Amino acid sequence: MYNPKSLKATEFIDDTEIRESLAYAVEHKDDLDLCMSILEKAALCKGLSHREAMVLLESELPQVREKCFTLAEEIKKRFYGNRIVMFAPLYLSNYCINSCRYCPYHAKNKTICRKKLTQEEIVREVTALQDMGHKRLALETGEDPINNPIEYVLESIKTIYSIKHKNGAIRRVNVNIAATTVENYRKLKEAGIGTYILFQETYNKESYEYLHPAGPKSDYAYHTEAMDRAMEGGIDDVGCGVLFGLNMYKYDFVGLLMHAEHLEAVHGVGPHTISVPRICPADDIDVDEFSNAIPDDIFEKIVAILRIAVPYTGIIISTRESPRVRREILKLGVSQISGGSRTSVGGYADGEAVNRDDEMNSAQFDVSDTRTLDEVVNWLLDLGYIPSFCTACYREGRTGDRFMRLVKSGAIANVCHPNALMTLKEYLEDYASADTRRKGEALIAAEIPKLQNEKVRALVEQHMKELHNGMRDFRF
Ligand code: SF4
Ligand code: SF4
Repeated sequence: MYNPKSLKATEFIDDTEIRESLAYAVEHKDDLDLCMSILEKAALCKGLSHREAMVLLESELPQVREKCFTLAEEIKKRFYGNRIVMFAPLYLSNYCINSCRYCPYHAKNKTICRKKLTQEEIVREVTALQDMGHKRLALETGEDPINNPIEYVLESIKTIYSIKHKNGAIRRVNVNIAATTVENYRKLKEAGIGTYILFQETYNKESYEYLHPAGPKSDYAYHTEAMDRAMEGGIDDVGCGVLFGLNMYKYDFVGLLMHAEHLEAVHGVGPHTISVPRICPADDIDVDEFSNAIPDDIFEKIVAILRIAVPYTGIIISTRESPRVRREILKLGVSQISGGSRTSVGGYADGEAVNRDDEMNSAQFDVSDTRTLDEVVNWLLDLGYIPSFCTACYREGRTGDRFMRLVKSGAIANVCHPNALMTLKEYLEDYASADTRRKGEALIAAEIPKLQNEKVRALVEQHMKELHNGMRDFRF
């Protein structure tokens, strides 16, 4: 029976509740009054229930779609302004004992090149990432207790935080590793990770079991209950996500929101971020097998409704998406994007093996947005966004419910905005091309007068001079 407070996966992600929500949405999809009343509620920025959000997604009324999009843009502006936080994935190892049907790292793939970075190789990768200008990483690794035990991940985190090359530093390491024990989550917390990210892939148990036929990940309950164990282990920022296109997207959309409601009900804080990857081509994977892949217009609507349903949760997209799609969904609610990404193990220092004939491919998926970080930053500036390399909250102890209280009160913008400008300034000083520097300086000059608080404004002006003179790492 459905119970958002239960710690049992099949009760907080109750199949009957999802199916009834889907049926309710079909029944009410043409009810304009109901849709508009849901949108009025959403405008209060207190979020929507999974059922309400599903009615909006199901509705094909043009007025509803239009209002979802304008409201998403308004909410995005109110909470996140024109800032976009930048990050990069770092693949440590693609050894994996699981058999996920959609991932080329699956254990039976004999054509992929298996690699695991040594600590020396991690130093090279991270130095290359620092030289691009990155400050925030998402660590990725396959599940393999022999090749990638937790000790390897912990040692790698320590190595990453210790590397200081020129003015570079990785200031926040988010971790995307397989579901694990409370004890291991505690170790990750002690190692100083930012967000623990784990994609559910799909919330439909039957499909989940089909997609994960063997290996530890095949245990639906253990995987679905991982965020509760992470929180029990002291990690208070967790990142959820589904791989859209694996299952019926509507089912997963409802499941994702139910998971967020569950975390809020049990731990008092919902997910810190939601990622919205879509299935895409990769080695030894036939995308046509996943005939539920969703078209761009539905994908955009999903992002817009997520923005209004969970206004306090950051939304992340990766380089799986093309620049065109990224541009559209940035407006609608995305707050973090990756830039200059390599999805192969060792790809930053050695160059991506994808699409190269001279080497076996070690990449997890093909990247649609192949631009460099500087090109992405330049593009964001052209679109009027402030590319932000900020990592302040985690370092100031603003995590979990402390963070959420600040976001909900709207006060977070008072720190995000100056931090975005100061970290952009660091990027411009140390890594930007001449053209990007020129555009970035113009944007900073235009944005500083918009800082409301006089004291903050004066401090930012002072720090800008100090940054130009070689000092680094100011934050609010
Ligand atoms: Fe392994 Fe993760 Fe790929 Fe599954 S999705 S095969 S667990 S790396
Ligand atoms: Fe993120 Fe906090 Fe920086 Fe804002 S101040 S961008 S919420 S880390």
